[in-house]
Amino acid sequence: MIHTNLIDGEWLGSQDIVENINPSDTREVVGLYTRATTRQTEAAIAAAAAAFPAWSRSGVLQRHSILKKTADELLARKDELGALLAREEGKTLPEAIAETVRAAQVFDFFAGEALRLVGQVLPSVRPNIGIEITREPLGPIGVITPWNFPMAIPAWKIAPALCHGNTVVFKPAELVPGSAWALVDILHRAGLPNGVLNLVMGQGSVVGQAMLNSDALVGITFTGSTGTGNRVALASLEHHRKIQLEMGGKNPMVVLDDADLDIAVEACVSSAFFSTGQRCTAASRLIVTDGIHDRFVGALIARLDVLNVDHALKPGSHIGPVVDAQQLASNLNYIDIGKQQGARLAFGGDCLNRGTPGFYLQPTLFTEASNAMRICREEIFGPVAAVIRVRDYDEALAVANDTPFGLSSGIVTTSLKHASDFKRNAQAGMVMVNLSTAGVDFHVPFGGRKASSYGPREQGQYAAEFYTTVKTAYTSA
Ligand code: ADP
Repeated sequence: MIHTNLIDGEWLGSQDIVENINPSDTREVVGLYTRATTRQTEAAIAAAAAAFPAWSRSGVLQRHSILKKTADELLARKDELGALLAREEGKTLPEAIAETVRAAQVFDFFAGEALRLVGQVLPSVRPNIGIEITREPLGPIGVITPWNFPMAIPAWKIAPALCHGNTVVFKPAELVPGSAWALVDILHRAGLPNGVLNLVMGQGSVVGQAMLNSDALVGITFTGSTGTGNRVALASLEHHRKIQLEMGGKNPMVVLDDADLDIAVEACVSSAFFSTGQRCTAASRLIVTDGIHDRFVGALIARLDVLNVDHALKPGSHIGPVVDAQQLASNLNYIDIGKQQGARLAFGGDCLNRGTPGFYLQPTLFTEASNAMRICREEIFGPVAAVIRVRDYDEALAVANDTPFGLSSGIVTTSLKHASDFKRNAQAGMVMVNLSTAGVDFHVPFGGRKASSYGPREQGQYAAEFYTTVKTAYTSA
């Protein structure tokens, strides 16, 4: 079967067909997927624009029921869709199933939200005049997503877009068309009218660029690299387009002398290495005070030593492969840079041979790193972390905040005073106390500061900020 693009309710092919390769076993083709052309992308945008007037006025029960049906099917097929996700992206099967469940929860949440859309009625400062403040759908929206959460990120963008009455042109990352196609197929069969959701798989430079060039897309929600995010921002300025950008991270995890050692090790292992470190919320700077430093590093290395890096579908695998050859080469290059700049390689650093040909990399830990090194300033997006030794809490906070990014920030401590101070002063959109920097809930705002994010927060009720536009109506009675 060749998977095609959904444009105005029809599945349309093109001459350009690519293989979706399994990073755990590069001999395996997960499926064949069609890349949309520029013209097809323009047709998808035109379809979303044509479908907008009717969908923006659709009944909320219709929206509720489509979103609910989608949630139910995702949940019912979580094992099968999780396996597809694990095969194309490389995260372990339990991680991939959990992501599919998360996508179902997101659709379930926004199915509920569709029945809870509210506005405000209030008196004017002038007598006998009433005011209504309402949220209206924004219009046709472009959704551009990365490869690291092929199901959850599309879900948390498409679900609120549809809930709030917008139409969508969805461009998934090239490496992971399988989950995107499956999600769109479910939504289409759940009863979306033609043109309300369009799928255009393909290259950023072709499909993505055609979206950036369009006058008809009045909003673009993007998750990916800072470089591409800046491109989206600049292109959107010309079109007076609303944007929501989620970009990189270089998240700190502070470990203080008074930390529970087991909690510190688990929080750091989970933050830095699970999902192969390929999360924008991953912690890659472990900032550790002197008094616990050596015990912490010893315990962390002992824990890394018993983690299995192997095929994503193999029972007992803790860490799957890196997503592709290019990402692996980039990770190895950063490991070299770390060594050259004088950090001590304390664990890992090498590729691994497993039973199947895949992009396997050891979890890699540097110690004696300084926050000025490139491995501590630039997002690596792989299973690589560096320990930075500091004197005390004040220095830890300063180092944590000394970064161009500001997505997530964690601390492990038993001190109420330091935890409270960190929550107040960490320069990040999300703060975690005695928890992994990754692993967020679906019903609360997600997003960051500085170079990590631009525009309104995603998820939960805060999603309305991006997916609607506010109207203030005055009536003289
Ligand atoms: P990542 O390295 O996480 O894949 P990218 O920023 O390269 O981050 O990709 C994120 C998304 O942006 C992908 O869907 C990609 O195809 C898309 N993209 C890449 N280049 C462009 C572009 N010039 N215009 C629009 N989208 C693009």
